[in-house]
Amino acid sequence: MIAEMKKRQPIGILALQGSFLEHALAVEKTGAQAVLVRLPKDLEGVKGLIIPGGESTTISKLLDAYNLTDIIRNLALRGFPLYGTCAGMILLSKKIENSNADLSRVNSLSLIDITIRRNAFGRQLESFEEELDMPVIGKRPFHAIFIRAPLILQVGSSVRILASLKDNSQHNLQGKQIVAVEQGAILVTAFHPELTDDLRIHRYFLEKVKKYARQKNDLIVNSFI
Ligand code: GLN
Repeated sequence: MIAEMKKRQPIGILALQGSFLEHALAVEKTGAQAVLVRLPKDLEGVKGLIIPGGESTTISKLLDAYNLTDIIRNLALRGFPLYGTCAGMILLSKKIENSNADLSRVNSLSLIDITIRRNAFGRQLESFEEELDMPVIGKRPFHAIFIRAPLILQVGSSVRILASLKDNSQHNLQGKQIVAVEQGAILVTAFHPELTDDLRIHRYFLEKVKKYARQKNDLIVNSFI
């Protein structure tokens, strides 16, 4: 008897700029199906969307140019799961510190109630790696890679903090250094799990997708594209 093939969960990866191929590989390794999203029609059937790291100013301009900004916003407001890494986190945040004074302004999707600072770790420390405690994915620390990373400065009351840098970190910044949070179906990390072989954060997002997946999602997607 031929065993029935298990249907793979289709997960969209925004593929306009940045580390989308690395995310696609990670998603495929979990057993889900990676779908590269460049146009509104590519969202058809996907159950969640990953917005990769890269250059947030460029990605925000391309989102507008490809008519994706309003669609993604409207989907998320109805519970569609999103995961933003680094530049993706910047694009999802409600408030970007000093963004009015910033020439490379990001037109944010404004979906998660956090205030962030772009390039928070300065020029000298543009990139670093740290073992992070992130209890929602298990006891073993996660090897987190930060590349010109943003930092979460403030979170709203509906936001759950998932990981912060250790107090004794060398980054010389004031206050709690929050680097991963979630709000309902939206997950963001300041670092790049797609650049490691550790799939636990992608799996965590896929669990979220399952949890929030409703028949309704397909109808919602179809009504926007
Ligand atoms: N510093 C970049 C920005 O502001 C983000 C860097 C990254 O995604 N690795 O868009």
